[in-house]
Amino acid sequence: MTRPELASCTVVSVVAHSLLKVVTRRHSPNKREHSMKVSPYHSSNPSDPDVHHDHSDCPTGQQIPERNKVSGTGGFPRCKQCIAKG
Ligand SMILES: [Zn+2]
Repeated sequence: MTRPELASCTVVSVVAHSLLKVVTRRHSPNKREHSMKVSPYHSSNPSDPDVHHDHSDCPTGQQIPERNKVSGTGGFPRCKQCIAKG
């Protein structure tokens, strides 16, 4: 007797695994002491936090897929992590 729940469970773990690979992908070997300041950008996805970023290495900003990245502040306040970076 087959269990359909088991099959969907496998799919979820495969997806999670490939996501993990993307997240742990290494950047250039050159270590930068200072974070890169860039022109403001935000996400066009309404489910993302209503903030804008101005650092290229902001962990929240890096989660925005390239297709959702919009330049400008979008009228949103600055991201707390970007503020902390200076
Ligand atoms: Zn940010």
